[in-house]
Amino acid sequence: MSIVASNRGLIEAEPNVMSNNARCVFLALFTYASCLGADVPGGTKARPEPVTLRGRVVELGPHANKTFGVPMDDELGNAVIVLVTTAGEVHPLVRDVRSRGFFLDKRLRDREMELHVHKYAGLPFVRVIDAYSFRNGKKHQVDYWCDICAITTYQPGPCPCCQDEIQLRERPVAEIQPGR
Ligand SMILES: [Zn+2]
Repeated sequence: MSIVASNRGLIEAEPNVMSNNARCVFLALFTYASCLGADVPGGTKARPEPVTLRGRVVELGPHANKTFGVPMDDELGNAVIVLVTTAGEVHPLVRDVRSRGFFLDKRLRDREMELHVHKYAGLPFVRVIDAYSFRNGKKHQVDYWCDICAITTYQPGPCPCCQDEIQLRERPVAEIQPGR
């Protein structure tokens, strides 16, 4: 990603160095290279590896202190949410639209979960793609649902449509109907 920042910096810092046409060609080439998943400086590739992880989602701070004897400031320890696998591996979650429920909703914490995530070589954080819980041994898909608007979201709070409180939904995977 550093090339993005540095190239943008070049364009923004020296607007007269490059003509508009040259800038367009340059941006087109860069966009094309990005679409191909081309190498970026540092040797990393932005190609995700899909991985299924089983474990519990917790705050990093208390877990690091209890398990590793590593105390840390609350600003970090409370803000970083991790999946601790049944084998004890710690996977910090990227906070984004798909994982935000784990950061905002304690009902999803410290219970058996299966997360389908994307891992990126060299990045210790994982991106959540799908989340499943377990109730009475049955696998459930986790999301948030507004019954009035028939809208699915991935975080608690007001429905983006009717502003009613959106409900946490855990549905047995076997009973999910397409489109709902
Ligand atoms: Zn609604």
